[in-house]
Amino acid sequence: MAPTTRQKELGRGERVLPGLWRLRLPLPWPGVPHCNAWAIASGPGIVLVDTGMHEPGSLAQLERAMDQVNLRLEHVRLLACTHAHSDHWGQAAPIMERAGCELWMHPNHAHATAGADDPQAALERRLEVGRQSGVPPRALAEYAERAKNFPSGVAKVVEPDHALVDGVQIETDLGEWTVYETPGHAPSHVCLYQPERRLLISGDHVLGRISLFYDYGHTADPVGEFLRSLDTVDVLDARLALSGHGKPFVDVHGHIEGNRALVAERLEAVLGAVRTEAKTALEILPAVYSQPVDVRNATWFLSETLSYLRHLQGQGRVAPEPDGGVERWRAT
Ligand SMILES: [Zn+2]
Ligand SMILES: [Zn+2]
Repeated sequence: MAPTTRQKELGRGERVLPGLWRLRLPLPWPGVPHCNAWAIASGPGIVLVDTGMHEPGSLAQLERAMDQVNLRLEHVRLLACTHAHSDHWGQAAPIMERAGCELWMHPNHAHATAGADDPQAALERRLEVGRQSGVPPRALAEYAERAKNFPSGVAKVVEPDHALVDGVQIETDLGEWTVYETPGHAPSHVCLYQPERRLLISGDHVLGRISLFYDYGHTADPVGEFLRSLDTVDVLDARLALSGHGKPFVDVHGHIEGNRALVAERLEAVLGAVRTEAKTALEILPAVYSQPVDVRNATWFLSETLSYLRHLQGQGRVAPEPDGGVERWRAT
């Protein structure tokens, strides 16, 4: 096999606890080979949490995973999404159609739904952020060309039937799950907690392998939101986390602490980079990340670094200096 060929992952279902199954679904993204949906027994059917991404053959992958644990799409009584990223919500429309079920999700989903309705406008906004961040025109043109082939991952934009906001309960055979709003990774992010069993469906808020991502540009301070959302789930004292990617994990508090430490480290790195001279966000990246910046990771790294800059700006520790359409940042 040529080293560049990616082995095609297959949907896989496994029982985590009686009445709770992990459905591992393939993703076409480099470095993120799969995501999880969770099925929870509920009367004659199941509550399905998250959907996997929509792409050719993706519904069959979900059905394959469900079939391995004797479940069918028609068993879904309710679909709940932890947030409106394509890997967690992209297949909502075909699942609702097949199962005849409702979708419950947080109302702050415009970060995804606006872009899905008008991908060209969303691309223009990303290019403008790149321009302001000091990305050279040639690299922006290359990115715009590549972006034409990015799959949206969303079958069809569907609005939730019911708002997943603080305190909403979802009934299952394992007991009631309570919704906790946890914005930061995305404005629409929620976690679900089952207190008697101390189970946390953590979505992408807390992952087994710590990985920070902020959906930048929709709220004033995603990093501040994320840190508050870590506090929100920390006090729950969960025993087992069922996350949006990777295996279930214990030591939830330790993972939350790991996230806090990495955020603190990166905030310091950003601040250190602009202490003696004003820099664009692009010029700050080498101080924050050890990997070289390339066309595949640049958008992620820039969104994350801009989120740190906005957070530090809110604390009065850095300020932007506009310079002919490019923003340079300096410690105050
Ligand atoms: Zn996500
Ligand atoms: Zn995800």
